[in-house]
Amino acid sequence: MDLTYPPQYEAFRRRVRAWLRKNLPSRPRGLAKLAFDDPRRIERAKQWQRKLYEAGYVAMSWPKEYGGQGADVLTQAIVDEELVRAQAPPLIGQMGIQMVGPTLIQFGTEEQKRRFLPRILTAEEIWCQGYSEPNAGSDLASLQTRAELVGDEFIVNGQKIWTSNAQFADWMFCLVRTDPHAPKHHGISYLLIDMKSPGISVRPLIQMTGERGFNEVWFENVRVPRSHLVGELHQGWQVANATLLHERNMLGAATTTQQLFAALVRLAKLCTRQGRSAVEDPVVRQRLAALAMRVEAMRYHAYRQLTDTILGRPRGIAASVNKLVSTELNHDITVCALNLLGSYATQTSESKFAVDGGRWIREFMFTLGMIIGGGTSEIQKNIIGERGLGLPREPRALPE
Ligand SMILES: Cc1cc2nc3c(=O)[nH]c(=O)nc-3n(C[C@H](O)[C@H](O)[C@H](O)COP(=O)(O)OP(=O)(O)OC[C@H]3O[C@@H](n4cnc5c(N)ncnc54)[C@H](O)[C@@H]3O)c2cc1C
Repeated sequence: MDLTYPPQYEAFRRRVRAWLRKNLPSRPRGLAKLAFDDPRRIERAKQWQRKLYEAGYVAMSWPKEYGGQGADVLTQAIVDEELVRAQAPPLIGQMGIQMVGPTLIQFGTEEQKRRFLPRILTAEEIWCQGYSEPNAGSDLASLQTRAELVGDEFIVNGQKIWTSNAQFADWMFCLVRTDPHAPKHHGISYLLIDMKSPGISVRPLIQMTGERGFNEVWFENVRVPRSHLVGELHQGWQVANATLLHERNMLGAATTTQQLFAALVRLAKLCTRQGRSAVEDPVVRQRLAALAMRVEAMRYHAYRQLTDTILGRPRGIAASVNKLVSTELNHDITVCALNLLGSYATQTSESKFAVDGGRWIREFMFTLGMIIGGGTSEIQKNIIGERGLGLPREPRALPE
């Protein structure tokens, strides 16, 4: 097994590293105090994505005609690794870049690709995901938001919930029921909806982190042009699943976990135990080592998937494994951080006693949410069991 990159890739890595050294945004003190959806924070995040894009480092593997560079996966992997190493801020347009963008490349019309893909890359347009409804989460195919095709337009009525970023998103990729008489997986379509359309109302929900991270979204006679249908009418379930695979890979990125673990090690060096740095404490070292082994296992699992992609081998249930393993590991990393902090763990960013900017209590709550978002751990285990290990399918509820 050879895990080294060929020399030309290492030369590219040096260029990326040098660029990041020069261009990484500073973190002004006031920024941490701004609300999650404060327009100043959003503007700053958009500027960072735009800068990274202009340097040529966003979605490099996308086709050139839609703003990408047609680069190979190794090139993108190097950029991802260097962003982690530099502790770069995450991209605000992640749902566009990693979820709807790849879906449009696979299923979109030429017109849709040319219209939407370049503006995803530049962060000119931010996307949100309209899948979940009050009675359709794990059982997503039960969704009831209705879209009726009248002439050349869909008329959409219904409600979505837990819609992350909807309060500042420009567009939503949305699942709607277009045939209420068909079996539930067959009457669904995938629409692209302009969030400024008349008839849409958005109400932020407060997460346990205290942030307005997600929302309820209502549709009242919202008009959507037929040209914004992705894939075939009533065949949206297949398109929806393609996006879900991308979402699971995004949430299960080994690089995110590496970044979080690196922050934990820095914290351990900062904290003290009986007058010495906590990293010198044998119990702390054992905890860190146990986590480090899981982080490394994920890294090698990611390399294996990279090899599969290069060789054109099917990825199987890898996305569910990534999502399950990494979101649970991310949460365990934060639990270790809270243990290190002891009673300081409760201090949030507003407190003068907060260590590391009060980051860890927020990460603890946020990573718990990530175990649920994108399909819960139980659902990933069902997928791995049924589609990966060939275990018997779970009993389905009988139709009423
Ligand atoms: C932070 C966060 C962000 C989110 N962002 C978005 C977003 O942007 N867009 C969007 O559309 N949705 C979003 N969601 C919603 C998310 O996809 C759903 O919460 C998730 O799919 C679970 O659905 P539910 O909340 O309805 O729970 P339920 O489906 O009601 O599940 C409740 C419990 O039952 C378990 N369960 C359910 N079915 C089974 C089964 N068959 N076998 C075993 N256990 C089962 C679940 O694992 C869970 O523990 C977000 C959620 C979170 C937490």
